[in-house]
Amino acid sequence: MRAARVRPAEEVHRYDVPLRPAAVAMAWLGVGLPHEALAVPGVALAPHDVLVAVEMSTICGSDIHTVLGRRHSPTPLVLGHESVGRIIAIGDDGTHGVDGAELHIGDRVIWSVTVSCGHCDRCVAGLTQKCRRLAKYGHARIEPRWELTGGFAGHVHLRAGTAIVRVPEALPAAALAPVPCATATAWAGVARGAALRGRRLPDPSPSAGEDAQVLAGERVLVLGAGLVGLTAAVLAAEFGAQVQLVDPNPVRRAFAERFGLAALAPEDVAEEGYDLVFEASGHAVRAALDAVDVGGAVVLLGSVFPADPVPMDAERIVRGLVTVAGVHNYTGPELHAAAAFMAGRGRAYPFADAVGAMHPLAAVDAALVQAAAPGAPLRVGLTPR
Ligand SMILES: [Zn+2]
Ligand SMILES: [Zn+2]
Repeated sequence: MRAARVRPAEEVHRYDVPLRPAAVAMAWLGVGLPHEALAVPGVALAPHDVLVAVEMSTICGSDIHTVLGRRHSPTPLVLGHESVGRIIAIGDDGTHGVDGAELHIGDRVIWSVTVSCGHCDRCVAGLTQKCRRLAKYGHARIEPRWELTGGFAGHVHLRAGTAIVRVPEALPAAALAPVPCATATAWAGVARGAALRGRRLPDPSPSAGEDAQVLAGERVLVLGAGLVGLTAAVLAAEFGAQVQLVDPNPVRRAFAERFGLAALAPEDVAEEGYDLVFEASGHAVRAALDAVDVGGAVVLLGSVFPADPVPMDAERIVRGLVTVAGVHNYTGPELHAAAAFMAGRGRAYPFADAVGAMHPLAAVDAALVQAAAPGAPLRVGLTPR
């Protein structure tokens, strides 16, 4: 008996998709350098790969961290991992959304920031965002046969192993583009916090009709009113919690009040007594640890850039029966739930207004300067068309 031969990657049949005119991706070359337009005249889709035409991408805080050199990134790369687009080509053997339904050319979709193998120990354990063979849109160096790797482009080449979610035509692009980072991360964080308090978030699909008040009675503190913190606060309030959102920035507080949230300056917040604390800024970890009540949980979401270690009062954590959890990115089902929330209860909120400015793709450098400036809107958008 002969062992099955493992087929080298080069032998996989690829479906060539010529692009006329060529697809354009804005290549980031390094700190202080302007982006350069990269023309990609075609892609070779491996089985289950998908090519999408980008409708809109938004600039996330981590894109800004990269261009300012606050974290190391391999270059050249195409930034952008918050996008909505439309499928224009599909590799051999088709592809499916997170919900299991086959995807078709013309479908409007969002996709995960991560590409996961689905087979390694971490994927099998449900930690697909930490796959041993992980690739990430907006973070990976451009390579042969995978040039369209980020959302700051006219097209993105989605590889097999990407979680893809079909989204409704009726939702504004500005409400959808941030879902694959901010909204899905907020969902994953709130789901984790709820689980640590013995609760389970309901199915957010508009048709599910489950009782949504699973966080009733919970005193929730959210530190940081960027888009992740704002969304986490909205979710916690939707699920019945009593929520206080905190941010030193009065512009962000005023925006949060449009979502019906109580937004406070840090000095106006009670220092302790919260069942669930979400830290979404990366700058208030100490305050988060101090604010949690006996038996409570702290979910850290914002510490996604290098920072000094935070001293931890271990005795208080032990005697207080406190749980501290870290949440980074999300799984495919969490992306699906976040999109379902935006298509359902999320419609009641002005999420689309978080995108306070739009630029053409070619003006990506100006857009990044605006997004990094003090008083910037929560998101600046880019559109290739
Ligand atoms: Zn992001
Ligand atoms: Zn894996």
